[in-house]
Amino acid sequence: ADPNLDVVTFLASRRHAGVVALIDAATGRRITFTDLWRSVAGAATALSAPPVSLRKGHVALILSPNSVHFPVAALAAMSLGAVLTTANPLNTAGEIAKQVADARPVLAFTTRELLPKLPPLAVAHDLRVVLLESTRLPEDASDPRIVATIDKISTTAPDPARRKDRVTQDDAATLLYSSGTTGPSKGVVATHRSLISMVQIILTRFRLEDSDKTETFLCTVPMFHVYGLVAFATGLLGSGATVVVLSKYELPEMLRSINSYGVTYLPLVPPILVAMVAHPKPLPLGQLRKVLSGGAPLGKELIEGFKEKYPQVEILQGYGLTESTAIGASTDSAEESRRYGTAGLLSPNTEAKIVDPDSGEALPVNHTGELWIRGPYVMKGYFKNTEATQSTLTPDGWLKTGDLCYIDDDGYLFVVDRLKELIKYKGYQVPPAELEALLLIHPEVADVAVIPFPDREVGQFPMAYVVRKKGSNLSEREVMEFVAKQVAPYKKVRKVAFVTDIPKNASGKILRKDLIKLATSKL
Ligand code: ATP
Repeated sequence: ADPNLDVVTFLASRRHAGVVALIDAATGRRITFTDLWRSVAGAATALSAPPVSLRKGHVALILSPNSVHFPVAALAAMSLGAVLTTANPLNTAGEIAKQVADARPVLAFTTRELLPKLPPLAVAHDLRVVLLESTRLPEDASDPRIVATIDKISTTAPDPARRKDRVTQDDAATLLYSSGTTGPSKGVVATHRSLISMVQIILTRFRLEDSDKTETFLCTVPMFHVYGLVAFATGLLGSGATVVVLSKYELPEMLRSINSYGVTYLPLVPPILVAMVAHPKPLPLGQLRKVLSGGAPLGKELIEGFKEKYPQVEILQGYGLTESTAIGASTDSAEESRRYGTAGLLSPNTEAKIVDPDSGEALPVNHTGELWIRGPYVMKGYFKNTEATQSTLTPDGWLKTGDLCYIDDDGYLFVVDRLKELIKYKGYQVPPAELEALLLIHPEVADVAVIPFPDREVGQFPMAYVVRKKGSNLSEREVMEFVAKQVAPYKKVRKVAFVTDIPKNASGKILRKDLIKLATSKL
């Protein structure tokens, strides 16, 4: 692509004139591509003028649940060369304050409901606020920082003569914060090049390039996370597919939307899949033909359980991290996903190697080590954190993923676990994901998480938190015996506790930190 092309111009140049781009699942409101790009251009014109005067290099924050306004705000800001940052609406005001202090946005897009989570006037009086709502601006706007609503600014007549900063592919486009599952959350800077190459990957790997309109996607994954942002608020808008936007995931709502809007393709995170498999009867899925799982590992057993219950639906996988601006590998056909548990083939323009984490040497095929990847979408670096950047990105552009993986003879990637989450039992390494996958096939187990339990003698041993299915009397001993029969002795689960729920984050990852705290608080 042209080096002077920003991601928004690139997307808008792909014409899908009359096609419906977005549907608001709650209201049924439909927005065509023509209307979408007009709104983006209008909003950009309005934001570039006072009082916001958004310019290249400024940071713009979106603090909002999923909505059809989200992509409009994101694309308008990026088209001006502003850097987009997002925050999880479930975060506390304290957590958001920390992120705001780090990213220093000049503009925040948020909803009236979430407004109190922004730093107060006294701390951030320069921040301008645009409400991501269709309604008119409240007359009694209690916060003087509120300058407009998104509907208002997106109906502004686009002004082609307005002052424009030149945006190139090397310029920063997003500043997304990693989930903070394994350590403190870090700001990840991606460029317009990263996003454009990711859009191209999505079009190729989802087989959407030359189709005018073949799929209707449902967006239940959060748009603030790289998964939702890159796939839904950006990538798919280059494809001509329709995206149905659900403000938040709830099983009944999801099913209603799948059926009422003829959804054919559903990207999701493993906990949703777990719920669909655990449901006593097959759920009605209408025209749904594909689900794509990403964000956390998916065991072979869960895939088998899903296929048995929903034989008409293909189950695909995508693998990526915030630092890779999303998909580094994916399966794109039932044929590939039959290699149970694979995260698929590497994305186009991707190099990969498996490295021994101790010696730093590259390992041959079928050997497990840390996955390093290199490609045009890899982050520029962490924001204001040279030390972390240097330990994650090599000078010649390799991203150390922190994931323990192997690649088979045919080039398929298998994610074993996260390096930082391995349980160290007497010097042996036990991947908790393997034990979780195993336990999930137990007919009385609804969900499970395995954590390291500290022990003076052996270092750590695996402990399982288990959610029993309704009516089950499964005992601790039965759980331990079930695992012991199927694994090497060093991998045995040596402690079990029953809970009603496994804590997980928005991208479907188990919050092991919380469970470790719970387990060790009783010591
Ligand atoms: P932090 O780095 O702050 O702890 P995080 O790594 O949880 O946050 P994300 O970028 O959301 O933040 O997560 C990326 C990680 O998700 C990958 O490194 C990998 O461990 C996991 N992951 C993503 N997709 C898959 C998949 N298909 N299979 C297995 N693991 C996956």
